[in-house]
Amino acid sequence: MERGVQVAEPSGEAATTEAYLSDETVQAILDRQCHRCAGCNAPLAAGSTHFDLREPVICGGPLVPGNLEALCSFCHRIRIRRIRERFAGHRNK
Ligand SMILES: [Zn+2]
Repeated sequence: MERGVQVAEPSGEAATTEAYLSDETVQAILDRQCHRCAGCNAPLAAGSTHFDLREPVICGGPLVPGNLEALCSFCHRIRIRRIRERFAGHRNK
C-alpha cells in the first residue's frame, strides 16, 4: 500500500489514480505529450499537472500507462465532472 506517493488532490476519487504512478510513468506520459495538456494543449507546469485515465476504471478502463494522460488542473476538473455524469448515466440504465 505505502508507496510514498502523496496525492495532493483533496477531493478523493480521481486522485486515487495518481497513487499508481511511478516517476518513470509520469515522465513517459509527459514525454509522449511533449509536456502539454491532453485537453487544451497548454504547457504543463510541475506541481499543476494532473494525471488521469482516458477511460476511467469505473467505465472499464485498464490501469496501465497507455490509458493515462496528463492534464492541467482546469481540464482535470472538467474530466472529473464528465466521468461523474457518465457514471451516473451508467447507473441509471
Ligand atoms: Zn488543459
